[in-house]
Amino acid sequence: MKIAVGGIMHESNSFSVRPTTLESFRESSLLEGEAIRAVWGPAHHEVGGFLAGAQTHGFEAVPTLMAWATPSGMVQKRALDALTGRWIDLLAGGRGLDGLLLALHGAMVLEGHEDGDAEILRRLRRSLGRDFPIVCTLDFHANVSEDMVALSNALVIYRTNPHTDQRERGLQAAELIARLVRGEIRPRQALAKPPMIFPILHQNTSKPPLIGVMDEARAREKDSRILVANVAIGFPYADVPELGPAAVVVTQGDAELAQREADRLSEALWALRDRLGTNLPDAAGAVRLALESDRRPVVLVEMGDNIGGGSPGDSTFILAELLRQKAEHAVVVLYDPEAVQTCLRAGVRQEVEIRVGGKTDRLHGEPVMVRGRVHCLHEGRYEETEVRHGGKRFNDQGVTAVVECPGQNLVALTSLREPPFSLQQLVSLGIAPERQHVLVVKAAIAYRAAYEPIAGRIIEVDTPGATTPNPARLDYCRIRRPMFPLDAIREA
Ligand SMILES: [Zn+2]
Repeated sequence: MKIAVGGIMHESNSFSVRPTTLESFRESSLLEGEAIRAVWGPAHHEVGGFLAGAQTHGFEAVPTLMAWATPSGMVQKRALDALTGRWIDLLAGGRGLDGLLLALHGAMVLEGHEDGDAEILRRLRRSLGRDFPIVCTLDFHANVSEDMVALSNALVIYRTNPHTDQRERGLQAAELIARLVRGEIRPRQALAKPPMIFPILHQNTSKPPLIGVMDEARAREKDSRILVANVAIGFPYADVPELGPAAVVVTQGDAELAQREADRLSEALWALRDRLGTNLPDAAGAVRLALESDRRPVVLVEMGDNIGGGSPGDSTFILAELLRQKAEHAVVVLYDPEAVQTCLRAGVRQEVEIRVGGKTDRLHGEPVMVRGRVHCLHEGRYEETEVRHGGKRFNDQGVTAVVECPGQNLVALTSLREPPFSLQQLVSLGIAPERQHVLVVKAAIAYRAAYEPIAGRIIEVDTPGATTPNPARLDYCRIRRPMFPLDAIREA
């Protein structure tokens, strides 16, 4: 049995001004054939799970194409055309192959606001045929659509946020496809979606209110007729009709049971709606709390500039407050390739005076003047061997400069947008995170896998931006209405 392995993964923020191009995928990760095995094989990622599953479940895995790009704005059509075109060539109409293990994100938005993941599935189906077995994994942030369900044989969705079960889900998908190809199972799946946006702040799967629904989904799988009981929480920053949480249940040949169970889980999500308020301090209040705290390090979570949710990574609201309130031993990482060049020209130990951040758009604050000394320059690559959100082992934040400012505050300037999913991001720069007073992370929930073990205190901060924690501040045009919490919804 030969199973093709591959994926095209992107989480697209409709409110970001930065389009996702073919170059964005090349810059992050775009691989073919055996190179996929080398990079993703040892990673805590679903593709690593697919490859490991081959041995466990008795098939030969054939790596084809794997593309991944850091979350940002909508994906350009010509980028997706190039990726799917090349992939379809590599798959050669499925000749000599028995099935496909496919890694998608589930919140890709195509230029023109289309459902990118469904479009990938549609193109693959057209080439491989209606009966070709496809088992597809999705991120917990997927905005699952009816098309994704109709175009795949089975969907397997992460169960954790921070995402620490990605490899496990890959293994589960590998088992399903092996059983499907052998004719042992005949999966039927159904989707149900409550009319709600699930605010990012409450998307932690190990805490209330979400933990109960996740436990319930797991419990449903004790029923031998149910192959997979999935819950996806949805990505609130994609302005598309399929935005929002979903339940997708895959059964052994019983479409009605699948629908009934999906409806039940969807109702359980809907029942949480009164517990989803968002009341957080602003930057000034949060910095004040941090400086008063003796539980260190204090992690300040800059929610409006969540890089893993597609924000630019150069918001200055918290940096400006830290300087204004005379913080000491604070670390801020900012995406600013221009400022990195200034530091490179100046050289290590030299004085610099640079305006940093606030350069991508007008949503994320003004550039801030920073005066200090170039503390170090680094080529930007680092490795993470622990289980961390996103499952990436080999990481690259681009050429990076650390500027030390008065009060031993450190501003790390990166040339690539890098979400804070690994402490190695700082350690590789010679920064000991546990010895700082304040660490600023541009994130929402995902950073927790890395930072929670060392944090003295975590303060979530309501900053403006493309990933504002409050959905009411976003200018949605294409989502379905009515939608909680934007509209009043009358009970049936
Ligand atoms: Zn995610």
